[in-house]
This record gives sequence, C-alpha cells and structure tokens, in this order.
Amino acid sequence: MERVAERENRDPEFVRQQVADGQAVIPANHAHESLDPMIIGREFSTKVNANIGNSEETSSIQGELQKLHTAVHYGADTVMDLSTGSNLDEIREANITHSPVPVGTVPIYEAVKRAESPDEITHELLLDVIEKQAKQGVDYMTIHAGVLMEHLPLTDGRKTGIVSRGGSILAQWMEENGMQNPLYTKFEEICDIFAEHDVTFSLGDGLRPGCLADACDDAQFAELKTLGELTRTAWDHGVQVMVEGPGHVPMDKVADNVEGQQAVCDGAPFYVLGPLVTDVAPGYDHITSAIGAAEAGRSGAAMLCYVTPKEHLGLPEKEDVREGLAAYRIAAHAADVANDLPGARDWDDALSEARYEFDWRRQFDLALDPERARSYHDQTLPGDNYKEARFCSMCGVEFCSMRIDQDARDADGEMSEIESETDLTVSAAAEANLPPVGTHDTSRVPDEIEINGVTFTPEHDHDHGHADD
Ligand code: SF4
Repeated sequence: MERVAERENRDPEFVRQQVADGQAVIPANHAHESLDPMIIGREFSTKVNANIGNSEETSSIQGELQKLHTAVHYGADTVMDLSTGSNLDEIREANITHSPVPVGTVPIYEAVKRAESPDEITHELLLDVIEKQAKQGVDYMTIHAGVLMEHLPLTDGRKTGIVSRGGSILAQWMEENGMQNPLYTKFEEICDIFAEHDVTFSLGDGLRPGCLADACDDAQFAELKTLGELTRTAWDHGVQVMVEGPGHVPMDKVADNVEGQQAVCDGAPFYVLGPLVTDVAPGYDHITSAIGAAEAGRSGAAMLCYVTPKEHLGLPEKEDVREGLAAYRIAAHAADVANDLPGARDWDDALSEARYEFDWRRQFDLALDPERARSYHDQTLPGDNYKEARFCSMCGVEFCSMRIDQDARDADGEMSEIESETDLTVSAAAEANLPPVGTHDTSRVPDEIEINGVTFTPEHDHDHGHADD
C-alpha cells in the first residue's frame, strides 16, 4: 500500500481505505516476488492491460517472454497470459518470474486443455487448476462465475451469440451436463483459495455482447446482476474483486454501462474490454475500441483491456502490441486529464511548452512513444541542426504558425524569452503518469531463470523510464 501510494502520489491511508471498501484492488499474489505493486480503482490513474500468450500455432517460452517485455516496455500496467497452446505451466512460471506488473490468467483455458473437451471438465479439475495457478503466483484470475443456465436462453436472438471464450466453454458444459455453472456452484471454495494466496477476482463477463446489435441486452444485464451478488460474496471472504465489462457498445451507451456496473457491483473496479464503438473497421479495432475506452475511463472505468489492430483477425505481433498499447495509453491519459486526476495535465503542459519552444529533443523525450515521434520527425529533417529549428516539414519554414506568432510577439516586445514552467520532477503527477510510460521498478526481476534445466535470459530494461535508455 505504501508503494502504491508513492506511485500514485496519494496518502497510504487513502489507499488502504479504498481497498478496504472494495473500491480499488492491488493484485499482488504473495508468491509474485518480482512485482512492483500497482492499484486499480476509479480514484487512481486509469490502468491498461495487455493480453499476451501463445496459441496452438505459436509456442516458445523465449517468444512469450519477449511479448511480456514488449508489453511492459510500451506501458502495460498488467498483463494477462491467455496461452492456450503448449507448455502452459512453464510459460506461466516464466511470465510470473519475469514480470514487474501483475499477471492475470483465465484458468478455464487450462482446464479445457487438460480435460481435452469442454464438457469433460470436472469440478475437481477446475479447483485443482485454480489452486495450482494461485500457488504459482498468478495475481488475478478471470472467473466466469456469472454465466448461469437461466441466462443462456436470453442469448438466443443475438446476432453473434456468446463471444467470450470462457462464456462459450461454460455454456457448452452446462448444456452437455445439464448442471449449473461449476464456477458458480464452487465459488466459495474458489474464494478460500484466493484468500489464502491473495489472488484478486476478475469476474468475467461471459455473456458480453459481440456486436453493437447485442449490446445492453437482457443476457448482458442478467449476468451483471449475478456478478454484483458474487462481488459481495467474495468481499465476505476477504477477497479483492474487479468486474469485467463489454465488449462492443455504441458510444452513447458507454457511460450508462459503466454507471450501471458501478451501481450493481457497489463500486467494485470496472475492467472493460474496449469497448468497440463500431463494428465496421477490422484492422483498426485498436482505434474503434480506444474511443470507447476513453469514454469508459471518463465515466469511471478503472482499467482498460487493450485491443490491437489484429482483433478479430489474428494473434498480435510485437508491432500490434505497440500500436494497441499506444492507443490505450492515450485513452487512459485522456480520461485522467478529463477526470482532473492530480498531476495528469502536467504532462500535456510540459510537452506543449517544449513544442512552443521548438525544443525538439525534449518534445521527443516527453512523447508517449518517443521512438515514434523522433523517427517521424527525422524522416524529412534528420540532421542535428533541425533539432533546434523553428519549423518542421509540416508547414515549412515560411508558414510555421508558431514561429510567425513568436516573431510577431517579439516585434511588439511582448515576449522576449520563452521559458518552460512545468517541471515534472516536482509536479503532483503520479509516477504512473510520468512520461514515457513503462515506469515500473524492474529491479526485482531476475536477469535469468531456469525452467526444466534450460536457462532463459530475455531482454528487459531495468530502468526504461527515459527515452534515451
Ligand atoms: S511547421 Fe507547423 S507543425 Fe511544424 S512546428 Fe511549425 S507550426 Fe508546428
């Protein structure tokens, strides 16, 4: 709590009270030793999650560790290992050992792999998988306990049915076995496991809409009501809870969704996937969803699950992870500025001052993605002499409006010297908001680890808090 308070520039007692009241969570499994703790709650900076993990088609521990590194480097506040291919245990162990950010999982994926078919999953197998992952050090788990048998007929008229992987697996299990969702009937036993290892619930929205036409339907809200009940059950067991949300929602309904969840779940942090505000742009869904994510953050969502340009089309590569995280860091920061989070605007002000001073190097350093800003500038004006130039190639030397403005003011004697006023080192900006992103303390991340006799030494920065590192 003290570390979180330091990162967020808040009083430790305020942090403690928010967690005690269930309004914020600190996902921090006792066994996750390399973790730099962070907090998720609407009173704190909006966080971004990146999904990583393998599929049956692509699978290597080194490759997965590189994805983890890329996600953390570009600013992910948490990562979810959604692996469904081979070496699940080894990959999870490697990710936890190497991650300075909380690691989340969806244990039903491993249960399906072990059972070989969704309808062969048993209650015992589910609890076994959950307990094993808790012992390994997973900080939070998506548990789709809110999908009930009674809800399934409500999805019949949908355009895209059940699009959550966990939701569709559980629906098949309930239909084949004629029994209630095992994650629901065993929920209190899961609570006991979570309480022992300090695992946080991420209550999954297995019936989230998969298109605008299905948004805000009876199935979605019936499940949300159950998630509210489960939130209170988990709290009664002393377990931290956040609640997952949609998905695909028209822009005018995003705020209603957030406010509805906050009311039904008594303020438990809302963790939204996007939402996408239009269905027509495959290939650009990091943009369609970042628009919804910004609105969700503005309305009180605490964490945004990123979407990459590959959404609906394929497994993201490194460059897709970068694009997705940039889009979501923008959405999260825009929400923090709009919500007047202490210190959030200082970053914008510092960059604007550098821009008006034509201090190009400082502008690059302050940019959300410094490498991108520098390379775009240098495509046309690469020389060192252009780093102090009073123009760029966008308007050109003759039409640079900021130069014209400054010259005109100089002529009137109104402005002889331009000086930055915003000093981020003494601003109230939370560490989580300082540029560029990815400011996690990685000092506890080991340089190498050994798994099954093989040593892995993935690249990672011990301090990538500055663009020049
Ligand atoms: S040339 Fe145009 S875009 Fe470039 S610095 Fe001047 S005003 Fe800004």
